[in-house]
Amino acid sequence: MRALVFHGPWEMTVEDRPEPVPGPGDALLEIVATGICGSDLHGYTGENGRRHPGQVMGHETVGRVLRDRTGAHRPGTLVTVNPVIGCGGCAACAAGTPQRCPDRRVIGVGREISAAFAERMVAPARNLVPLPEGVPAEIGGLVEPLAVGHHAVRRAALRPQDRVYVVGGGPIGQAVALAARRAGNPGVVVGELDPARRALLTRLGFAAIDPAGPSAAVSSPVAPSATDDPAIPSAGGVVAALGGAADVVIDAVGSARTLQAAFEVSALGARVVLVGMAAPRVEISAYAVSTEERTVIGSFAYGEAEFRDTAAWAGAHAAELEPLIEGRVGLEQAPGTFRALADGTLKASKVLVHPSG
Ligand SMILES: [Zn+2]
Ligand SMILES: [Zn+2]
Repeated sequence: MRALVFHGPWEMTVEDRPEPVPGPGDALLEIVATGICGSDLHGYTGENGRRHPGQVMGHETVGRVLRDRTGAHRPGTLVTVNPVIGCGGCAACAAGTPQRCPDRRVIGVGREISAAFAERMVAPARNLVPLPEGVPAEIGGLVEPLAVGHHAVRRAALRPQDRVYVVGGGPIGQAVALAARRAGNPGVVVGELDPARRALLTRLGFAAIDPAGPSAAVSSPVAPSATDDPAIPSAGGVVAALGGAADVVIDAVGSARTLQAAFEVSALGARVVLVGMAAPRVEISAYAVSTEERTVIGSFAYGEAEFRDTAAWAGAHAAELEPLIEGRVGLEQAPGTFRALADGTLKASKVLVHPSG
């Protein structure tokens, strides 16, 4: 089969690879589309060290069942794949939270697994999540990042009255904003440096703000508050856009700078959810946590039920979610697309690779 193989920083080629062979608990899938994730890009450049030479990446995928050795899914069934594989035997796995399994593996991250930037892939049958009948297939490729956003919002224990600031308006920030609205809190403000991403967020119905702008100008589907005074510093602009200090900040970037911003715009006692993974280590203000009683909450992936619920929700909101897909390429164009996304010449938020397209 044809597959996109990572060979080291900035090196990717399309090659023939051996057909994947399903084991007793596995299914074989024909891949329809796989999203390029920010973590794939940071792996591709070598920045995060979470991808390895020789690996076939791809964890945001949708495909059709060719063969399920467990018999649980009929051939032809359209499925997305929960890429988190737990050991199956520990307390976290028993609770349906394999993202907390100490022996977890993740399809598309683990180097030993040939993943979804390929014509075909093997996955444990129990990780397949069928999509509702009639849903456009590509929506299945969005479920994984949407589930990341849903889990982050659940980790925040979001209440409708909370003032919510989302740091970063890329695919995960977009997913967080959508999940907050899904959870009954539609008034989130998203901070994003890139104007094209702010425009996408506005189209999705969210208030988007440039956190670096002198006036932290708001582009909002609702009337902006009085933030166009250039004297207002960025944190003040964010607070003005929210109508007060944030009760919840969800950091979808994850750097020292963004965590510091999260503290600056949030109220004493706020919850700060760290879901972005830009930096493996950060130095943060201890007093912003201790003397001001902020809670810093980690969020990784999703539980099994959260992933399934998000697949069902995405299926019911396909038209609303379609604008998230900003590019589509075949496998042969994928190396060039990775390069262009990583060096910034291509600005698209979410690009789907169609391995047979
Ligand atoms: Zn991802
Ligand atoms: Zn486990």
